[in-house]
Amino acid sequence: MRTRHCYLLGMVWGIVLAGAPGMAGRAAGAEPAAGPTKASRQPRLGVPAKRPADGKLRIVVFGAHPDDAEIRAGGTAALWAARGHHVLLVSVTNGDVGHSQVFGPALAARRKAEAEAAAKILGTASRILDVHDGELEPTLDNRRKITRAIRDWSADVVIGHRPNDYHPDHRYVGVLMQDSAYMVTVPFFCPETPYLTANPAFLYSYDGFERPNPFRPDVVVAIDEAIDKKVEALVGMESQFVEGGANGPVPKTDAERAERRVLVAEGFRSRFASIANRYRGKLIELYGEEQGKQVRYAEAFEICEYGRRPNRDELRRLFPFLPK
Ligand SMILES: [Zn+2]
Repeated sequence: MRTRHCYLLGMVWGIVLAGAPGMAGRAAGAEPAAGPTKASRQPRLGVPAKRPADGKLRIVVFGAHPDDAEIRAGGTAALWAARGHHVLLVSVTNGDVGHSQVFGPALAARRKAEAEAAAKILGTASRILDVHDGELEPTLDNRRKITRAIRDWSADVVIGHRPNDYHPDHRYVGVLMQDSAYMVTVPFFCPETPYLTANPAFLYSYDGFERPNPFRPDVVVAIDEAIDKKVEALVGMESQFVEGGANGPVPKTDAERAERRVLVAEGFRSRFASIANRYRGKLIELYGEEQGKQVRYAEAFEICEYGRRPNRDELRRLFPFLPK
């Protein structure tokens, strides 16, 4: 009995050790174990990020799919870019099920090309993470991915979906952004990626969902100056808007396609006009009575509680197109 007991105990310990990070059989792509002993052997772990010294802001906008960051913040991104600031639009999934007739690598490649073309129009950089569309989960591995993306860009501002949204991928981008909002500053979390010494400001992009709490606009940005670029960038993402994305229908003729492009452009203009009208009071508060009343198109953002909480002056530094 004693021998059998020891044998069983040994098996249990074997399983426990195999499951412990850094103890045995580390999964492909997982982080190396961090700790004082390991760190002292590898002095490059857990070092602070060196920030580019050009005096410009650095912004990351996360969307779940290749079009979300462009829809939610493409105008504001273009305003930053036009002033020399560095904006990265990230799609956390590759969009490979977002069409009614094509899927998989062929669709992912098409959507990557569409995102890159949009970025060129907006003056931003574009990045697509290697996660299947419709399958994003708020896992530890994905928390690391988002944390590294924010650190790699040395972000001052991070924007993403709220965790209340109809689409599970959108929701989990929100959760993952929140989960990274402190961890980006922790030296020995993802220790091989230099950590940020200043926590960025994290903001949610606009949505119309009401439960459990509606979107609250802390920053509403007039995008009149950038609306043509934004609409051009979005209409160019034909797989989603002209061809109807996951639910179609795909236009059958060239004439139908041309007609659809016009309708899509009009639809987007009225969508961003409705944000300006909905938050007119906030526009007047931020831009003053005269200018605030004249704004035609807007994007709106809500400050997340978990990152840096910018005060009024800092908000105007981070959104330098707001009047002083
Ligand atoms: Zn989406």
